[in-house]
Amino acid sequence: MNIVLMGLPGAGKGTQADKIVEKYAIPHISTGDMFRAAIKEGTELGLQAKSFIDQGALVPDEVTIGIVRERLAKPDCEKGFLLDGFPRTVPQAEALDSILADLDKAIEHTLNIQVEKDELIARLSGRRICKTCGTSYHLIFNPPTVEGKCDKDGGELYTRADDNPETVANRLEVNMKQAQPLLDFYEAKGVLTNIDGQQDINKVFADLDALLQGSRS
Ligand SMILES: [Zn+2]
Repeated sequence: MNIVLMGLPGAGKGTQADKIVEKYAIPHISTGDMFRAAIKEGTELGLQAKSFIDQGALVPDEVTIGIVRERLAKPDCEKGFLLDGFPRTVPQAEALDSILADLDKAIEHTLNIQVEKDELIARLSGRRICKTCGTSYHLIFNPPTVEGKCDKDGGELYTRADDNPETVANRLEVNMKQAQPLLDFYEAKGVLTNIDGQQDINKVFADLDALLQGSRS
């Protein structure tokens, strides 16, 4: 079960990743975790990655791809893996294919959790914070009892600049533009499945699960 999981911020990718790796007992491989592990192990590539991260620079593709190569060759990936946050670009996806070909493997599923932009904006811009005590609320997931007021002290709730709907929409736009060529790449390979992420969390997982069960050999 070799999976690439995709979805825009707010689509619920993290939640579904947790459920998939638990049910299928495969490792959840995210770029951040891979970097941290390689740095901790002190591998040559890990040290190279660290030098870029310490300077606040992006880790170059050749280093990232090398770390992915080492990670996917580990024994816990034998039964499969869930990649999350990699690949991000078509060149990375092509590099991933060549790494997997060397290991006699291939991506079986690219699962894209789809949520409409307006819904994502609502999810990502719903945070409200109390001016008095800093307690955080969410208009959809954890609303205050009285609109605009803190449950604890009646303090006024405000929206952080980062959570402003326009800021969120711009950020999503950038993410969508970045993701599209990758979705096209996997679509052309015939491994892309779009999953409706606007349903209840458990129903989203049921859909993912049915798809993965159906393809289990
Ligand atoms: Zn408060």
